[in-house]
Amino acid sequence: MNLLTVTKAFQTEDAALDYLVSQRWPNGVHCLACDCAKVYRIDTKGKTGRPYRKYECSDCALHFSATTGTLFHDSHLSLQKWFMAMALMAEAKKGISANQVARHIGVQYKTAWHLCHRIRKAMEELNKSPLGGQGQIVEVDESFIGGKKLHKGVKAGKDAKISVLGMVERGGRVHMQTVENCKAAALRPVLKANISPNVKTVLTDSAAAYGHILPKDKHVEANHRLELEMFGETSMKTIEGAFSLFKRGVIGSYHHLSKDHLDSYLQEFCWRYNRRGIQPRMFSTLLQELVTKKPLTYRKLTREVF
Ligand SMILES: [Zn+2]
Repeated sequence: MNLLTVTKAFQTEDAALDYLVSQRWPNGVHCLACDCAKVYRIDTKGKTGRPYRKYECSDCALHFSATTGTLFHDSHLSLQKWFMAMALMAEAKKGISANQVARHIGVQYKTAWHLCHRIRKAMEELNKSPLGGQGQIVEVDESFIGGKKLHKGVKAGKDAKISVLGMVERGGRVHMQTVENCKAAALRPVLKANISPNVKTVLTDSAAAYGHILPKDKHVEANHRLELEMFGETSMKTIEGAFSLFKRGVIGSYHHLSKDHLDSYLQEFCWRYNRRGIQPRMFSTLLQELVTKKPLTYRKLTREVF
């Protein structure tokens, strides 16, 4: 689904709710606390007058709604607008600015900015799973983003650059995040959290830091000179390609990029990159992941019960 089909499919809030319910509970609504399938549906209207669907569990009497515990809960925006923003972000190969989202879905810039930010944060949560399973090769490299300080000299420009550590499975998923610097102490926790211990080989450039972090039997330094001659085992082309794709998107879509937000943009990029094979289903995949992948604890649910 792209923006056009999303707009067409969800012309009413009820249609959007129906879709949300079908994605969240493909086998019929189940109680969020006890998983009981016998739940009563109560149709009502929310504070804003929009349709609001409540459920009551016949077993434990929990009251919940289709949006309880999701990103959309208690939002003053309609599900239709959420869905449109999600479709735009899921489909935009190079990213999309809050300004463009505001224009497309008809909300204020500030609203669009918050909306995009929350969707990005959710994408970040969905990305958490280490790269490099059994027999896989992971390429690791650093890159520097930003740093254009006109008329302030080379040194100022260099200081303003943000270091980003990127890693990618050959033919698979990518992870990128900002790091304080490229020394071993800064890189170690990131590599540890994001590369599976089952990985076959980790390819890096010749920076000394990697030698201190990665186990000798798995670590291979890529040789840039040889790489020109053959695109083989030691090539770093995959991670370099991912970085340049991200940079092209950043320059085109986000003109002001602060360090604080760079990580969210990176996560948004990674979310899309990691699902690039399922292009026509990006929106439904995002929605499905948002409503099913985050298990909720009972405590959290009861706190949100109304
Ligand atoms: Zn229950």
